[in-house]
Amino acid sequence: MTMSEGADAPGNGLGHNAACPVPNCSIPVDLILRSSDQELIGAHKANLEHFSDGFPSADTVSDSKEPVDLSENGTTLKLLLSGMHKQKLPTLSGLGSDQLLALAEAGEKYFVYGVMAACSEHVRAESRLVKDGRTATAYFAYAAKFGYVDVADAVAPFMVDLDTTYMKSRLIGYDTAFLAWMRYREQFVALSDALTSIPAYVYVATPMDGCTAWANYVAAMRVTLPMTVKGHLKLLRGATFDRLEGIFDAHYGMLTQTCRCRSGACCAMAGAWKAELRKDLLATKPFSSFL
Ligand SMILES: [Zn+2]
Ligand SMILES: [Zn+2]
Repeated sequence: MTMSEGADAPGNGLGHNAACPVPNCSIPVDLILRSSDQELIGAHKANLEHFSDGFPSADTVSDSKEPVDLSENGTTLKLLLSGMHKQKLPTLSGLGSDQLLALAEAGEKYFVYGVMAACSEHVRAESRLVKDGRTATAYFAYAAKFGYVDVADAVAPFMVDLDTTYMKSRLIGYDTAFLAWMRYREQFVALSDALTSIPAYVYVATPMDGCTAWANYVAAMRVTLPMTVKGHLKLLRGATFDRLEGIFDAHYGMLTQTCRCRSGACCAMAGAWKAELRKDLLATKPFSSFL
């Protein structure tokens, strides 16, 4: 960007070339904002007053022709300012999750109600598609900060295998959310126990003398299943049974082929073990029930 007065900054006598981000906007620029990445952006005091509750008010900056420094980056500020005009809000569908969340946070911070509402709706929809832990945590932090419980519930299952130290660092100042997440995660740690020590209720039948199918099945499962809680949590990530089901089923064929019990004892126990785990996983409570 050149620092000379440009034709694209109509009515701007402030000594900086900074246009309004809305194409063909005819409102005079009477305030210049500087983003964290040093971009100068033209704004209209009247619009800031009208569309937001937290922006540096016209009063506080009226004597200054100097740009007002803000902590948001240029992309975010331009979208935010676009949302402070009498026109449709900028489309959010092309934004990556980082950009979307940055805009959503800025909307909340400056009380730009239109942007707040549009972003929270879009975040709510997007949160249901999140699968990786890093993105889930970013959505979760936004949800914890501004009280969007359904967003937190949607992404929490993808955070069960994250380090508590990492989570603590992402939730500084939001201890209630952090503690609730710890308790939420504890449910999955408890499931990990049922993977390492087969619950007593599984031993409902006794294999026929000499049938080693069940013992072999258990041994094979022990070799395949991770040895650590962390490994189990990875398997349970997303709170779906799919990955575990794959492991159970992979060994089931061997069991049915080698079991000689007429009562079907070995197969019954394998079935009970899997069914109970699936039931326990489905019975885990959503994150918000720990708030
Ligand atoms: Zn404008
Ligand atoms: Zn058997």
